Amino acid sequence: MKMYEIQDVTFELKKYEFSEPFRITGWIHNEAENVDVKVVLKSGKIGMGEASPSYRVNGEKVSALMALQKDVKEMLIGSDVRNYRRIFEIMDGFSRTAPSVKAAVQYAILDSLSMATEMPVYQMLGGSKSEIKIDKTVGIDELNKMVEKAKRFYHEEGYETLKIKVGENLKEDVRKILAISDATKGASYVVDANQGYSVKEAIQFANATYENGVNIVVFEQPVIWNNLDGLKILRYNSPIPIAADESAKTKYDVYELIRNGCVDFINIKLMKSGISDALSIVELAKTTDTGLMIGCMSESSLGISQSVHFAAGIGAFAYHDLDSHMLLKERGFRGKFKQEGELIKL
Ligand code: MN
Repeated sequence: MKMYEIQDVTFELKKYEFSEPFRITGWIHNEAENVDVKVVLKSGKIGMGEASPSYRVNGEKVSALMALQKDVKEMLIGSDVRNYRRIFEIMDGFSRTAPSVKAAVQYAILDSLSMATEMPVYQMLGGSKSEIKIDKTVGIDELNKMVEKAKRFYHEEGYETLKIKVGENLKEDVRKILAISDATKGASYVVDANQGYSVKEAIQFANATYENGVNIVVFEQPVIWNNLDGLKILRYNSPIPIAADESAKTKYDVYELIRNGCVDFINIKLMKSGISDALSIVELAKTTDTGLMIGCMSESSLGISQSVHFAAGIGAFAYHDLDSHMLLKERGFRGKFKQEGELIKL
C-alpha cells in the first residue's frame, strides 16, 4: 500500500526568544534556533518533529542542519513508515554529526504513522503512562532572585520538583541551595552543575547540602563530560545520586558510563540520542538498575511533545525535566498534550 510511503521531507528554520535570559554554567541563552521537520506521506498524512540543536553539547549549528534537508529527503523518499525501524537505522548515520535532526526525523516518522493509524505515538511506544509530572527550572541568578523564583514555582504554581542550575561558584551555590531549601520545604531538587565543578568541589557540594538536609534527588553532570574517572570517584564519595547528561549522548557513551560504574542516573535527551539510541539507553539502564530521567534542550511545545510521548510511552523515567517550552516565547501551542501546571496529560 503506497499510502504509507514517504512523499516529501521538509525542514523549516524557526527562531524563538527566551522570555528572559536563561543562564547556566558558562552560557546565557537569549534565543533558540530550531528546525521543524515535516514528513508528508502519499496519503497526505503529515508527521511533525522538531530539532533543537545544541552547539554547547553536540557542536550543532542550525545552518549546517538546514543543509542536510536535501540528503535526508533523498534517503527517505519512498520508504514505508510502517517499517520505521529501517528508517531509524538510516538516520542513525547522523548520530554524531546531527543528533537533533536524527531525533526530529525519527519522531516525525512516528508521528506520521500515528496520524495514518490514529494511534497516539505514546501508545505506539508502549502506552505505559497517560500522564507525567514535569519539573520547572531556576537558572543561575542572584541568590534572592533564585529564591523568589523557587518559591513561586513551588508554592504558587505547584511544582513539586525544582531544577536548580549551579556550577559557577561553589560557596555561593551552597548558600543559594540552602536558602532555596529553607524557602521551599517539602520540595525535591534536581541540581545541575553543567560540568562546572572539579571533582573535589562536587564532593564538597554534595556533602555540604546533604549534611544540611537538602532533598537533592539527582546531582547532574557536576564535572566535565569526558572525565569518566572523575565521575566514578565522585559517585562513590557522594551521599546523593550522580547523573550524567553531557557525558551521555549516544548508547555507546552510556554503555561506557554504566560498565565503569560512573553514575546512578542517566539524563536521556532525544536531542542527544534520537529515538533509536534513547530506546537502547532505556534498556541498558533497566538491565543494570540505573536510574533514568529525561531532559530537553531548547525545544518549543512541538519538540517537548516528542519527549512527552516518548516518556509516557516508555514509562521508565523518575524525573521529567521537560519545561523548555515554558521558557520560550511561542506564538501558538503545538504540543499533542494538555498541561495543568506540573501535570501533563495525553
Ligand atoms: Mn543537564
